[in-house]
Amino acid sequence: MNSPESRRSASLSVGRVRAAVDALPAYKPGKTAEQAENEQSISAAVKLTSNENPYPPPSVVVEAAARACRTSNLYCDHSATELRETLAQRLGLAADQVTVGAGSAALLYQLAKALVDPGDEVISPWISFEAYPIAVRLMAGALVRVPLDGDHAFDLEAVAEAVTPRTKLVLLANPNNPTGTALPCSALASLVEEIPGDVIVLIDEAYREFADPVLGDPVADLLPRFDNVAVARTFSKAYGLAGLRVGYMMAHRRVVAATDKCAVPFSVSGAAQAAALAALSDDAAEELDGQVAAIKAERSRLASNLAADGWDIPEPQGNFVWLALGERSSEVCLGLERRGVVVRPFPGAGIRVTVGAPAQNDRFLAALSEVAAPDSLR
Ligand SMILES: *Cc1c(COP(=O)(O)O)cnc(C)c1O
Repeated sequence: MNSPESRRSASLSVGRVRAAVDALPAYKPGKTAEQAENEQSISAAVKLTSNENPYPPPSVVVEAAARACRTSNLYCDHSATELRETLAQRLGLAADQVTVGAGSAALLYQLAKALVDPGDEVISPWISFEAYPIAVRLMAGALVRVPLDGDHAFDLEAVAEAVTPRTKLVLLANPNNPTGTALPCSALASLVEEIPGDVIVLIDEAYREFADPVLGDPVADLLPRFDNVAVARTFSKAYGLAGLRVGYMMAHRRVVAATDKCAVPFSVSGAAQAAALAALSDDAAEELDGQVAAIKAERSRLASNLAADGWDIPEPQGNFVWLALGERSSEVCLGLERRGVVVRPFPGAGIRVTVGAPAQNDRFLAALSEVAAPDSLR
């Protein structure tokens, strides 16, 4: 039954999966604390793999979601009208320049669906968000990976040079996941000036709320100047709603309309819409601002502790830090995991460690000093 032969014929007999899908690896979410506990026979593991907010949402947000569940026998508002209008008003845009999706990952997939024909090219600096290659390859497009510069940051000149007549889309995670580096809007504007106006540039700001405000705001600075710029943001990270799936994207209204056509009907649940609206309200602002401030303070503490131990890390602009461990990445990740600290490995490149609550970060620092020393001290 399990021989390679019979499995091959079994898979052939249950449909003819598209080659683009057949060749795709499945998306690999970060390991949970429970998985690590079972695999390593340990207890009290901490999960620092998925850049989640360590704090639960404010109770006004939870209550708004719970109230929305009372009418979950009914379909929600497919267009998330009130949320779009609220976001548009806050951002100084028209409602038709904003769309809402089941996480910004869904908006990325929708945008790829709207733009990418088989063989079209999508450019991303690399290493970057692991969902990008999947979204592109699902459409039988080609992801063109442009190496980062020596400081783990984007080489925008190389990005501009990589554009060809087949290029449809450029994906820029700013701050970048997993390296945590970020570029100012002025640099992004220079890139957009250099590339053809029919290439969409998506600035993925999943970590915007943790970044230095001096970097600028592409919604205010770039959208009015460039019809081909789109900006994605999310409630998953700073707003602590990763589990409810809601993100948003600002773009030219024709890009918004095309993206909307590619949505799965009713994919942003009523509970998610209500939670996002409550998270934007004045009632939640103080608590959420406090969470972001606490995470940023912990990030500084982590960075200075790592520097004091001799680690040379890029200045973190997201809610995570990047240790460019190269070939040691998998081994260090496993060593940390055996000590109950679960981080995200990027084999051959580095490890990404989410900034957690203070006690979790202490666990990481203590485990790291047992498992690995910086190259310079080895
Ligand atoms: C986490 C993340 C997202 C989005 O996540 P959603 O939960 O789908 O909103 C998007 N881009 C990057 C770079 C991320 O790290």
